Amino acid sequence: MEVRPLLSLERKARIFNMQKYSIYDGPGIRTIIFFKGCPLRCQWCANPEGLEKKYQVMFQEELCIHCGKCVAVCPVKIHYMDDSGDSIKHKVRRDINCTGCRSCETVCPRQALNIAGKDLTITEVLDFIQQDAAFYQSSGGGVTLSGGEVCTQPVFAVNLLMECKKLGINTAIETSGYAELDAILELAQFNDLFLYDIKNINSDQHEVLTGVRNEKILRNLTELIQRGYKVKVRMPMIKGLNTSEEIIRKTMEFLKSFHGRPNFLGVDLLPYHKLGVNKYKQLGKIYPIEVDVAMTEDDLTRIEGWIGEYGLDAKIIRH
Ligand code: SF4
Ligand code: SF4
Repeated sequence: MEVRPLLSLERKARIFNMQKYSIYDGPGIRTIIFFKGCPLRCQWCANPEGLEKKYQVMFQEELCIHCGKCVAVCPVKIHYMDDSGDSIKHKVRRDINCTGCRSCETVCPRQALNIAGKDLTITEVLDFIQQDAAFYQSSGGGVTLSGGEVCTQPVFAVNLLMECKKLGINTAIETSGYAELDAILELAQFNDLFLYDIKNINSDQHEVLTGVRNEKILRNLTELIQRGYKVKVRMPMIKGLNTSEEIIRKTMEFLKSFHGRPNFLGVDLLPYHKLGVNKYKQLGKIYPIEVDVAMTEDDLTRIEGWIGEYGLDAKIIRH
């Protein structure tokens, strides 16, 4: 396979967050780079601001004092004052595309506005990553590319990974695996570990829960493991949606053929959490899950037991 020619380090990608000191997404202490844009729509997604590639206005209404400063500076009139009620209130139009100028974010006296998405160069992202080089060395950590879905911006990502490897930084990718195999294999050349989701082994259910079928995902996973790339499988645990005994056992049957391969590093269980719920409101969206899907300790113990029967250890990752 050919390596894509190195781009200018001034090439940009749209990123919605860069987070230091993570201990959940790969070995050691890690910096996580979140790429904006994802082809899936998982009902439980904790990063709704990472789903769409476009800039999005996050508005914390409870902080707003309705001063109108954002209205005055917005070039496309996303912000407006609504005088239809008892008092005049600042509102956000969701049908107009934000240009990402950040004027409203800057001018707001209450920090009520946050624009999701920033176009950063490889140099800028690398500079941020390198700030914690000492932590990576002492802990065996490094950088993890996440999202959204990193495979939606593969050219930037492969060059960023290449630069990290030149600097001796350990690399990982957290992915849904829903991408063209060629793109994943290009990333794989400079990637030390894939954190690879299986969200539901049943493709019909997968489509209902995420918006896409899983055949391509499972095919790509098989290719990566068979080609010797290091993979850890991650299974989000959303009670009643993907946690039945039948689904867990079918997943283990699928993974059985990879047993014994040194590059297949087993399974992490990611119990549902509600950390992203408030962000839906800030984006003017409705949280898709209406029922209680939280896992109890008993639920997780039962699932660990089923997985153990197939000779696999399941590690529970709690955020
Ligand atoms: S970032 Fe610019 S275009 Fe977007 S809402 Fe704020 S002022 Fe308007
Ligand atoms: S600038 Fe901030 S506080 Fe003032 S109306 Fe806009 S969001 Fe509200």
